[in-house]
Order: sequence, then C-alpha cells, then structure tokens
Amino acid sequence: PLSLTDPIEEHRICVCVRKRPLNKQELLKKECDVITVPSKCVLLVHEPKQKVDLTKYLETQAFRFDFSFDESSSNEMVYRFTARPLVETIFEGGKATCFAYGQTGSGKTHTMGGDFSGRAQNASKGIYAFASQDVFLLLNQPRYRSQNLEVYVTFFEIYNGKVFDLLNKKAKLRVLEDGKQQVQVVGLQERQVGCAEDVIRMIEMGSACRTSGQTFANASSSRSHACFQIILRRRGKLLGKFSLVDLAGNERGADTSSADRQTRMEGAEINKSLLALKECIRALGQNKSHTPFRESKLTQVLRDSFIGTNSRTCMIAMISPGMSSCEYTLNTLRYADRVK
Ligand code: ADP
Ligand code: MG
Repeated sequence: PLSLTDPIEEHRICVCVRKRPLNKQELLKKECDVITVPSKCVLLVHEPKQKVDLTKYLETQAFRFDFSFDESSSNEMVYRFTARPLVETIFEGGKATCFAYGQTGSGKTHTMGGDFSGRAQNASKGIYAFASQDVFLLLNQPRYRSQNLEVYVTFFEIYNGKVFDLLNKKAKLRVLEDGKQQVQVVGLQERQVGCAEDVIRMIEMGSACRTSGQTFANASSSRSHACFQIILRRRGKLLGKFSLVDLAGNERGADTSSADRQTRMEGAEINKSLLALKECIRALGQNKSHTPFRESKLTQVLRDSFIGTNSRTCMIAMISPGMSSCEYTLNTLRYADRVK
C-alpha cells in the first residue's frame, strides 16, 4: 500500500513521460535504444541523422517535463507521481483526469492496468487499481468516514465518435447536452463498489469486454479511447469524479491518407479528438474561459473535467525506445510539450 503522506503537487496540469524497455523482438533485431533519461525531469532523444554510424550522426533533442520515467520504473512508481496526487481532489468536490497518450505498443494499457491478454500482468498492478485502492483508503480515514460517501465506477469506450458501455456488453450510448451545457451519457452503467476488490472485478470485466469479439484485439483497441471513471457521491449527489483514459494510438491519427475509407474516417476522428484534447487541457492550464470541448466526443464527454476551479489533469506520454519508433516518439513528445 502507498503512503498517503506523499507530497501533493499544487499545479493543475502535470505532464510526464514514460519510456518502456526494449522488448524481446526489438532486442532480437538489435534495435538501437535512442532515448536516455539523464535526470528526473529531462529526457533526450538521440535521433540518427543518417542510417550509418550512429555514434557520428546523432542529433540530440532535449525535452523537459514534470517527471521523466526511464525503463526501470514500475507502474507503482509512475502512479505515485502522476495520478496519486490527484486522488484527494475528488474528495474535495473536484474533477481529476489522467490520460495515457502515445503510439500503439508504447505501454498505455500496461500502465493503466487494462491488459488481460497475457499472463504477465493483472489488473491489480496498474493505475486504475492503485487509484481505486487509495480512494478506499481515504474513504476510511476519520475525516471522510463520517460523510456517508458512496463509490461508483463506469467504464466505456469511444470509437469513431460513438460511445460504448464496457460494463454492459458494449451497448451503444447516446450523448446529450442540455440547455445548461450539462453533458450526459444516457444509460451509462454506474456500478456501486464497496471495496478495491470490487473495482478490480469491474476493471477485468470491462477490459475483457473491450477486446472481445475481435480477432485482432490490439488493432481495434488502438483505434478507441477507453475511459474508466471512479465517481464519489454523497447521498446520491455527485461529489467528485476521477477519469482515467487510455487514449487511441496517436499514430492512427495519421491514417487519413489510407486507401481504405473506414480507416481514413477513423484516423480523421482520432486526429480531431487528440487535437481537441490538447486545446482543452491547455485552456484548463491557462484558466481560459473558452474550452473547445464540443470539437470531439471525447472532450464533450469529459467536459466537466476541463472546467471549474477544482479540476486537475495529468498526462503520461508513453514512448517506445527504439530507433524505428523515433518519428512517432518525437511526435508524442512535441504533443506533450504543447499540453504543458
Ligand atoms: P499500448 O496500449 O500503448 O498499445 P501496451 O500497453 O499494450 O501498449 O504495451 C505493448 C506491450 O509492451 C505489452 O506486451 C506490454 O506488456 C509491454 N509493455 C509496455 N510497457 C511496458 C513496461 N513499462 N515494462 C514492461 N513491458 C511493457
Ligand atoms: Mg492499448
């Protein structure tokens, strides 16, 4: 269990980078690792200018973030410096969001803990579960125990501008906005949970639902955003909400020139939503009055997280270390750099 006395950072937007280790295939192919993390905030990309002698033709680009995590960091470590400082926000009536951004295969789902295909990982080891555990830890502290708080979770997917309920057999849901600009996902299942183990069962159920019915599970999940929410209510009334979002692969946004019409449309939609997300987070960080949340379904559904005085966001940009991913890695880092 994590200590609840870790320092709580005060700023509203936190942007971090996580580098994953080279995997077996990359090691077999003798893929070159082009990323180094010299200190806790700085990250360097050593881009080969010509595909010849690497030691001679490097151009190094430096990026600075709130935190940079190298390949030796654990999910728990990443959690502690990203989502953990946001948990208390929802007990104080605020909205918290945590985004996993990056190329397909860079570690978004691994970090969030929504990966069940393999033997290696289970739900209790990712950010979804760590955050849930801390919500229940706080809930049982004297200052909150007396408040009769109830905890609910939702889990849904946004694919090609449409919302599907992962806790209800991928039922397709409508999004409505009323005159007061309140956005509602009609019929979204909110499951009440009494302990962290209940939440883990929901994460497992929703994650299995996300990849079910697809022969190429990763191909479809790379084109959708998955959103897991922890909701606090006091006597039925909404108190706070924590949204943890496993975004679509950012390289899919470049599929706009594909020969296949469906792929082109999906690519355009992903591109649109990631651009809108960037603008909404920037607006929150700069305390702008106008938030362009209507530009995409993703930002529309998360509308109340981008406004209000007590909204806080963190983005974890995931990167692959290999030279062959260099171009996408630079795209990811530039995006994350713009969000700050
Ligand atoms: P994404 O969701 O971004 O497409 P995944 O989370 O599915 O990527 O990760 C791709 C593969 O790499 C998975 O097999 C995952 O277990 C592995 N992986 C990702 N990040 C790490 C890490 N930090 N340490 C070890 N393995 C990782
Ligand atoms: Mg994934």
